[in-house]
Amino acid sequence: MRNYFIAGNWKMHKTVSESVALAKALVAQLAGCREKLMIAPAFTALAAVSEVVKGTNILLGAQNMGPEEQGAHTGEVSVLMLKDLGVKVVILGHSERRHTYGETDELINKKVRLALQHGLEVILCVGETLDERESGRLEAVCRTQVEQGLAGVSAGDLARVTIAYEPVWAIGTGKTATPEDADAVHAYIRKVMAERYGEAAAKAMCIQYGGSVKAENAAQLMQKANIDGALVGGASLKAETFVPIAAFR
Ligand code: PEP
Repeated sequence: MRNYFIAGNWKMHKTVSESVALAKALVAQLAGCREKLMIAPAFTALAAVSEVVKGTNILLGAQNMGPEEQGAHTGEVSVLMLKDLGVKVVILGHSERRHTYGETDELINKKVRLALQHGLEVILCVGETLDERESGRLEAVCRTQVEQGLAGVSAGDLARVTIAYEPVWAIGTGKTATPEDADAVHAYIRKVMAERYGEAAAKAMCIQYGGSVKAENAAQLMQKANIDGALVGGASLKAETFVPIAAFR
């Protein structure tokens, strides 16, 4: 049976004490959960939340990182700093980074390779805007983001890569792709992966869906053959909305 990967992205929410309180609630309520679990608090709360999740079944994630190991990069946080705090997974290429902060596939790829080189797991986010979908460019956009995001990534490193398919128009909007729609895009992404890494690696690949996932739609989405987990934004901010997603089966 598949092991799903359920990840919470807390974005720019919560003070340190609020983050610790939520992390403690999740540790208590998800102790018996059989899925792979991750929470990504803001950078400022990583150290404190790291203490809470240490030795539990919840992995510590970061929402982004800089493209260099260290140096004169004002405002950036490096892979070494994340590792030092116990971060195991880093979310890269989130649509908010792409569209609000202008991150390119080239920059995202640099971060992906750096994170993998330092032993972190990566969640690479890809997904089309409404305009791209409506003008028939969905597949081309996803292909480019996957291929360029993973340029130079070896088959050996692939086990530490998760792809999150997140249609931009479904993020934080309450609109969700239908399970059938999402599954079809996941199948397409798997095909792109197979062309590059072979059928077996593509089949073993974890592809999460993200975009207004909540308790009400989590099971329907994850019942689909190609959907291996969820990257959750809004609904990850409270234990009462995140726990039922992680415990969807
Ligand atoms: C996200 O930001 O990755 C996300 C999927 O957000 P939401 O669940 O709020 O749509």
